[in-house]
Amino acid sequence: MPSQQKDLYLPRPAEIREVIAENSQIKTFVLSFVDRQYHDKFSYAPGQFLMVSIPHCGEAPISVSSTPANGGTIHLSVRRAGKLTEAMHDMKKGDVVGLRGPYGRPFPMTDLAGRDLLFVAGGIGLAPLRSVINTCLAAGHGRRITILYGSRTPSDIAFQADLATWGQTANVSCLLTVDRAEPGWEGDVGLVTALLAQCCLAPRESKALLCGPPMMIRAVLAELAGRGFADEDIITTMERHMKCGVGICRHCHMDDKLVCKDGPVFTLEELKRLNVLELRG
Ligand SMILES: Cc1cc2nc3c(=O)[nH]c(=O)nc-3n(C[C@H](O)[C@H](O)[C@H](O)COP(=O)(O)OP(=O)(O)OC[C@H]3O[C@@H](n4cnc5c(N)ncnc54)[C@H](O)[C@@H]3O)c2cc1C
Repeated sequence: MPSQQKDLYLPRPAEIREVIAENSQIKTFVLSFVDRQYHDKFSYAPGQFLMVSIPHCGEAPISVSSTPANGGTIHLSVRRAGKLTEAMHDMKKGDVVGLRGPYGRPFPMTDLAGRDLLFVAGGIGLAPLRSVINTCLAAGHGRRITILYGSRTPSDIAFQADLATWGQTANVSCLLTVDRAEPGWEGDVGLVTALLAQCCLAPRESKALLCGPPMMIRAVLAELAGRGFADEDIITTMERHMKCGVGICRHCHMDDKLVCKDGPVFTLEELKRLNVLELRG
């Protein structure tokens, strides 16, 4: 096997520099590669993911939630789901995980310039969008940015520091909703789609970026189509269980496309050409 192909599967040790508890189920791990030279050359784009591994716990794809423009450390925001993510949640500063990547087609960042941007996220879905939002802000995106974020309960609201910063940024409006209120919550209660009614959107001048559970994506897609967003202006991410992450095992196929290589970012126009169960009503 040529050495380049062997490297494709080679996890590189990365040290946890900091662990940020976003809520009871999500932690953000701040990492850097142990090999300083490799770390300094490492680059990625918003929407790409890394395959994270821990010996005896397996490997899983996790989106990068940090911003390439800021350089420095790599952020991975991880929700407890199974063996690997549970093991990761038990890790602390100084522990080491394996990382390979970055993989996948990123968000089309150049197409976002000069457009109003609508971000709609549910739960951990804000992780990859956080990378896009902070990249746009770092680049001085001058148009309107609207962020709609839904959580199960107020205690489940993740990325609170980012939400507070975005809420105070001049051209950004940030609206939150929860499925179930808790004592002291005076904000919206209900689906994230209800927040769309509070937004002043110019669909022909906008791009919408979505990430969240399939039910949320389906509801938001229907709402955006009703408001006149063109299919090519709606961009979402797709999740499939994957093994190799590099288009070889075909575990993550969607019709003739592979989520790891052709995605995970797709426009609605692209998805409509595929037989994608999540998009059916
Ligand atoms: C491109 C991409 C980006 C992602 N980014 C993030 C992120 O930023 N943060 C994050 O927290 N998660 C992210 N995920 C999801 C994450 O990869 C999964 O939750 C992963 O399965 C966790 O691994 P685990 O070993 O902890 O759990 P697993 O052991 O994989 O179990 C997780 C759940 O999946 C089920 N499951 C396991 N294997 C299969 C299978 N073959 N078919 C169907 N169901 C199965 C289990 O029963 C369980 O309910 C992303 C996924 C993709 C595809």
